[in-house]
Amino acid sequence: MAEPESELLALRNRLGDLDQRIVELIAERFRVVGDVAKEKAASDTAIRDSDRERQVLAAVEHIARSEGAPVNLVRRIYRDLLAESVSRQVSSRSGLLKEVALRVAVRGEHSFGFLAAQKYLSTRDVDGELVVTPTYQAAVDALKAGEVDLAVLPIENTAAGSVDDTYDLLRESEVSIVGEETSSVDYCLCGVSDIPLGAISQVLAAGDGLEQCSRFLQTLPNASQILHFDTGAAMRLVHAAGDATHVAIGAPEAAAAHGLVVLRRGIANHAENFTRFVVLSRHPVPVELSAPCKTSLILIARHEHGALMRSLGVLAASGHSMTKLESRPRPGRPFEYMFFVDFEGNIADPRTADALDDLRSTALHLKVLGSYPATTTTGDAQPGDATPLVPPDASVEALETVATPRPATKASKNYRLAGRGARSDDTVIRVGNLLIGGGGFLVMAGPCSVESADQINATARAVREAGAQILRGGVFKPRTSPYAFQGLGWEGLEQLAAAGRATGMPIISEVMAVDQVRRMAEMVDVLQVGTRNMQNFDLLRELGKVDRPILLKRGLSSTIDEWLGAAEYILAIGNQQVMLCERGIRTFETSTRNTLDLCAIPVLRELTHLPVIVDPSHGTGHRAYVAPMAKAARAAGAHGLLIEVHPDPDKALSDAEQSLSFPEFLSLMRSLQTVVPAA
Ligand code: PEP
Ligand code: MN
Repeated sequence: MAEPESELLALRNRLGDLDQRIVELIAERFRVVGDVAKEKAASDTAIRDSDRERQVLAAVEHIARSEGAPVNLVRRIYRDLLAESVSRQVSSRSGLLKEVALRVAVRGEHSFGFLAAQKYLSTRDVDGELVVTPTYQAAVDALKAGEVDLAVLPIENTAAGSVDDTYDLLRESEVSIVGEETSSVDYCLCGVSDIPLGAISQVLAAGDGLEQCSRFLQTLPNASQILHFDTGAAMRLVHAAGDATHVAIGAPEAAAAHGLVVLRRGIANHAENFTRFVVLSRHPVPVELSAPCKTSLILIARHEHGALMRSLGVLAASGHSMTKLESRPRPGRPFEYMFFVDFEGNIADPRTADALDDLRSTALHLKVLGSYPATTTTGDAQPGDATPLVPPDASVEALETVATPRPATKASKNYRLAGRGARSDDTVIRVGNLLIGGGGFLVMAGPCSVESADQINATARAVREAGAQILRGGVFKPRTSPYAFQGLGWEGLEQLAAAGRATGMPIISEVMAVDQVRRMAEMVDVLQVGTRNMQNFDLLRELGKVDRPILLKRGLSSTIDEWLGAAEYILAIGNQQVMLCERGIRTFETSTRNTLDLCAIPVLRELTHLPVIVDPSHGTGHRAYVAPMAKAARAAGAHGLLIEVHPDPDKALSDAEQSLSFPEFLSLMRSLQTVVPAA
């Protein structure tokens, strides 16, 4: 018979084996969780799936019951396991999970960005693999494609100023700034062995090195300068050539990595040479409220006197100190500017979120680039001391709060920014050289659909001569029947754009889908949202991101309140250039295609500062009623009209009954002049 002690020992050994297996299984479960996180990130699937969590709990409780395990204990353990797995997925998606090696894109091997990325990872004690890309654009593309977790890009240099490419990428891309890193840039001359400076025959370097050391390089009498894609390549060549008269420019760390010696340190034009880098991620990462934090944004000021000052005044008045203001030309708008603003503040802080709301209504366009731990503020933050964290208890909801606009508070209406409460002055929107809203009145006219180059060119000339200022033409047509003409698509848009250029008119066309928005915004001056898409919230959100005026048609069965709520979607994301277009609503009346709600004009003028446009073509559906209602709209205080005109209305491929001929349009334009607009 076995001794009791040895029996106990045997049992304990069995327990030890079981513990080993349990822990191994937990480890394996988390490895699978890691794969799930990757799958979800690749398909941009939400991390939290409450249904799935409930199913998992129910399944393990069932197993516990049938295996005779304590159900409550199993439930508790699994709750913990699931919570841990969600928080790991959050961390890995934000690119900051310590156990997982991060992939970080940088431009150029052994560039200063490369070294900054290494520093960023090492001060945070995170393992990482640097992925070298040929350009900044390629680094951002790799990030967007999910090939890397972070990208590190230079944003400003104390000597050379702002890095324009990075600013352009921030403007165009859907990425968030989640950190910054400042490094002192110690440019050195490096070679295979010491040599008198006069004997140097070739200097190999990347562009920034040649630029920032230009004065020193001028003192080398016999050296030709050879531009290389990156410091790594330059140094590798110098090392391979083994010729002491060939030298490279780069950081001492880079020289060491390539077996070169430093011949001369501090060769940059400016002794204090620092570069600030931004760390980008696909998703925002919340920063603890206690950590020093900066927020970066792009702001386009309204076309009003003192508009920029008013916007910056919002930051000052709310106690946010601005750390940087940089102006850049606004793309496609010669001599207009947008501003890159950095200030001390955290979007997770309600005070900052309020200030951002106020900023949205003072600006024409606002894009929040991210809130991130500050390492270069005037406060006492030290690099690395404000490690960006996904706090242990950060929920997915917390991340989403950062990514989406703050909801209206209970006391406010659905349309806080669209309301007069946010802004008492009328919003004036600039389209080309035209101003819409405030005191002016203008007419947008053209065919329902672009049908051919000839048709749109002829219409453009006719409406221009009659006095229209903006050319309309649908190319993506939301037709009631799938068998009806659907529009010419992108080809039609080219034709519309050409007709607009030929007649000197800005153009407006309808956008139907999220994936059309960016491309269309490049080509048209105003993006129209059709009645059927008024509450396509994904589309509205996307339109909030572009710097283009939007004409938002009223939904055919929407109340004014719902309509302003839809406008608010665009405003709340950042684009304040929204005009509203009344185009008739569904009522019991069948004599007209829709009932043109002219009451909406004074109501909107009272409730909102946004310009109000009226479309009597769709509002009536009958050619004969267009002119009377157009005049009535002007008399009631509309800021403009949208009218369908066709060279041969009866043959129009869409909306033939309501399209005006050229003479009819001319006579309408004349009769409008006799209308006295509402005060
Ligand atoms: C249009 O303007 O041609 C159009 C389709 O309008 P709505 O969305 O108002 O029907
Ligand atoms: Mn139409």
